Amino acid sequence: MHTDITPLDIEEVALRWRRTKIVATLGPASDTAEMIEKLFDAGADAFRINMSHGEHDSHRAQVNLVRDTAVQKQKHVAIIMDLCGPKIRVGRFEEEQILLEEDSEVIITSRDVMGTPGLIPSQYQNLHKDIQLGERILLDDGNLELTATAIDGTEISCRVVHGGILKNNKGMNLPDSSLSVPSFTEKDKRDAKLAIELEADFVALSFVRDKDDVLNLQNFLQQHGSGIQIISKIEKPEAVTNIHEILACSYGIMVARGDLGIELPAERVPLLQQELIQLARDYSRPVIVATQMLESMITHSRPTRAEVGDVASAALSGTDAVMLSGETAAGKYPVLAVETMNKVLREIEAHQWKHNSFGDAKKIGDSTSDILPVRDAVARATLNLASDMKLQGIIIPTRSGTTARVISAARPSAPCIGVCSDIQVNQRMALNWGVIPVLVYEPQTHDWRTLCELINKQVKLTESGHTVLLVSGFNDDPALNEPVIKILMV
Ligand code: PEP
Repeated sequence: MHTDITPLDIEEVALRWRRTKIVATLGPASDTAEMIEKLFDAGADAFRINMSHGEHDSHRAQVNLVRDTAVQKQKHVAIIMDLCGPKIRVGRFEEEQILLEEDSEVIITSRDVMGTPGLIPSQYQNLHKDIQLGERILLDDGNLELTATAIDGTEISCRVVHGGILKNNKGMNLPDSSLSVPSFTEKDKRDAKLAIELEADFVALSFVRDKDDVLNLQNFLQQHGSGIQIISKIEKPEAVTNIHEILACSYGIMVARGDLGIELPAERVPLLQQELIQLARDYSRPVIVATQMLESMITHSRPTRAEVGDVASAALSGTDAVMLSGETAAGKYPVLAVETMNKVLREIEAHQWKHNSFGDAKKIGDSTSDILPVRDAVARATLNLASDMKLQGIIIPTRSGTTARVISAARPSAPCIGVCSDIQVNQRMALNWGVIPVLVYEPQTHDWRTLCELINKQVKLTESGHTVLLVSGFNDDPALNEPVIKILMV
C-alpha cells in the first residue's frame, strides 16, 4: 500500500528512554548543585537521602537542590528519604577499636560505657532481654561473628567465631533473635516530619518485619496530613516470611541486599531477589534492587565484570530500579557510576527490545488459575497489543499513578507515557519501570484523541496517521476499577 507518511524510526523511539530506573544516593561526594546537575545528565531518575548520615539542614539543602535542578532540566525525579530504623550499633571504644581474637570470650554489655579490649558496649539497651543462648551476633556487616554463651543481667558472654578488628559504632545484626525494638524509632519520627516538611515523594522504612510496621508509619504520615508513599526495605527474614502482607500495604519495596545478606545466608539473596521482583510485579508495586551494585567504583573508575553482570542480571529479572549507595554518596566517581549503570541497562534493554522479551506474559498473574483477575487480563492484553502491533507508545492518563503502575508491571515493549496534572504523582512515576512522566494542566482536554495528539506533539512518539494505545481507569478500589483500552490513530 502506498503511503506518503514517513514514520519515525520505531527503534529510535522505542529506545529513546531507558526503562530501568536509576536511584542515586546523595552524600558528601555528590550534594553540590554542580554534581546534582551532572547526575541528572548522567541519567539519575530518583535521589535517595540516607537519614543515617547528615543533619536536617544538609538534607533540606539536598532536597532543594534536586527540586531546583528538576525545574531547570524539566525532568520529573523522585526523592526517597530513607529512615534508618532500629539499626543496632556497637558503642565507642577507649582506643577507637578493639581486636577480637577467634575462639576468645568477650562480653557485650547494654550499659552505656566506653568499650575496652574484651568489652563491647551495645547502643541497644534491651539487647540482653531479646537475645537467647546460642544465638548469633554479627558485627561490622557480618564480617565478625559471635555466639551468646551466657547472659547475666545486662552482660552477655560471647564466643568469637570469626574475629578481626571492631571499630567504633559498627553495625550489629541479630539474625536469630526476635527483637522487641519498634521499627519506627523516635529518630525516624523526627526524620519523617522532615520528609513531610520537604514534600519528599517516598519514605523508605528500614527493617520492616510485617504489615503493622508499615501501617504504623502510614498512620503517622496520615495523622500529619501527608500522603507520602512508603517503600518497605526487605532486609529481615521476617519480612520475607510476611512479604505478601507487606507488599499489599506498601507503595513499593527495596531489596536491601546489604542487611538482607547478613540476616540471611548471602547465597540465598540472588534467588530471593528474583522472587521479590516477580512478587512485586504481581502486586503492581515498584521494586528497587540496592547495595553494592558497583561497589568497586567507590574507589575505581571501572567496575568489576562481576558488578556489570549484577546490574545486568537485575535488569533481566525485571526490576523497576537499581540503586547506587556509597558509589554516588561518598565515592570518587559518582557521575561515572551513574553513566556506567546507564550504559549497562541500555545494552540489556536494546537486546530485550530487539528480541521482544521485555514483558513475559506468562509471568503476569497466577498461572494456576484459569481466570485472570481483570487487572492482570487487561495488563496482558496491553502487553500483547503493544508487541503484536509494534506500537510506538502507550499513553496512560492517570490521576493517582495506579494505571501507570499496573501497565508498567506488565513490562510492555512500547514506552509508557504517564500523563498527570499532579506533579507529585509525576515525580513518583519516575520510579516505575518504563514510565515517562508528562505533566498536563487540567482541564486541558477531556477528549482522549486530542489528549493523545497533544502528548504526541510533546514527546514525538509517532507521525500522524499512526496508532498509539491509550490505557486508563485502573483503581486500587475494585468497585472503582474501570479499565479502558483504546487504540487511537493520531
Ligand atoms: C541495605 O542494607 O542494603 C540498605 C539499602 O540499607 P542501608 O543503606 O540503610 O544499610
